[in-house]
Amino acid sequence: MSQKTVYIVGLGLIGSSLALGIRRDHPDYRILGYNRSRKSRDIALEKGFVDEATDRFALFASQADVIILAVPIEQTIDFIKELAQIPLKSTVLVTDAGSTKLAICQAADAYLKPAGINFIGGHPMAGSHKSGAIAADVNLFENAYYIFTKTAATKMDALPRLTDLLSGLHARFIEIDPQEHDRVTSQVSHFPHVLASSLMNQAGDYAFEHPFTNNFAAGGFRDMTRIAESEPGMWTSILMTNPDAVLERISEFQSRLNEIADAIRLRNSEHIWNFFDKGRQTRKEMEIHKRAGVDSFYDIYINVPDQEDVILEILELLRGISVVNIRINEENREDIAGILQITFKTREDLDRAFQVIRDHTPYQVTIT
Ligand code: NAD
Repeated sequence: MSQKTVYIVGLGLIGSSLALGIRRDHPDYRILGYNRSRKSRDIALEKGFVDEATDRFALFASQADVIILAVPIEQTIDFIKELAQIPLKSTVLVTDAGSTKLAICQAADAYLKPAGINFIGGHPMAGSHKSGAIAADVNLFENAYYIFTKTAATKMDALPRLTDLLSGLHARFIEIDPQEHDRVTSQVSHFPHVLASSLMNQAGDYAFEHPFTNNFAAGGFRDMTRIAESEPGMWTSILMTNPDAVLERISEFQSRLNEIADAIRLRNSEHIWNFFDKGRQTRKEMEIHKRAGVDSFYDIYINVPDQEDVILEILELLRGISVVNIRINEENREDIAGILQITFKTREDLDRAFQVIRDHTPYQVTIT
């Protein structure tokens, strides 16, 4: 593409990170931004994510070659309706970043198609519990799936134009049907969030009667409930725009719980063993376990003794290697050393860290 104007609507975590990714491969493109609140607008301007910013959505729309809607799902639908009423470039391409796709794509068919506006749905499948421009990260989408969903409003050039525009994200572009997108994400994302919050709410209520619940919750419980810390507004929007698929997953899960409850009631140890074994085998075969899933992080695990300065010693060895996260998984048992889990963004960083720790410390280090 020759020099283009890109209009990013919503300068939150996703919109600002997209702006950074676009700049990486297209430094000459003009990036304009919309944001309702002043804070993210100011940050995006100060840090140079965008060249100009406004709080009036319609202001920059007619200048844009590409418009990326990166606001909450309901607001995305409202802006799609509004775009159909605004004079736009005849070649404009509109896309979005919403976490559910069917409702947005249906709105595009209803409002943009009759106006002859080119639209393709988009869902960059990476995120964080953080929000706003302050959390922008040029590497947020690295190795993550970036899903495109075609609709009746999608013209032939939409996909190649967008994959070129977004090449600096280093994401893995894939195209699927919007309904299938919502079905699959209901299983691997939307329903797990319902489950994590249910578990957390259950444990919280139980702790009133059994206060040790809070003390004994350890690594497994923490892993199961991490996503319960997500932003409630976004997840409410997701359930409101993908109700059928999520309800179906809930109902199917209830049958699974009933099945294992029956096996426990009947003391059917073979059934129980098979239940756990199937879960273990299925997880091993899943893409997340091969380090190529939607989560682009790479982890090492170091068995550390309960000694002073041991963590500092390890971090000192990792100087110069970019660390994404550090976690100490206490085992709640005095006879077992804690497990230090360090997360890296790239495979190269992980390999370097593994080698340096293995060569310079006596601690057992593993990559799973
Ligand atoms: P965010 O809270 O960081 O940013 C959302 C932006 O939208 C903010 O700048 C806010 O000012 C603006 N906004 C909110 N309500 C608005 C309204 N009514 N009118 C106008 N502007 C409004 O959120 P985000 O994580 O960047 O999410 C943006 C979109 O990306 C959502 O559709 C979300 O479903 C999708 N998404 C999020 C994630 C994630 O994990 N955070 C991942 C993939 C896709």
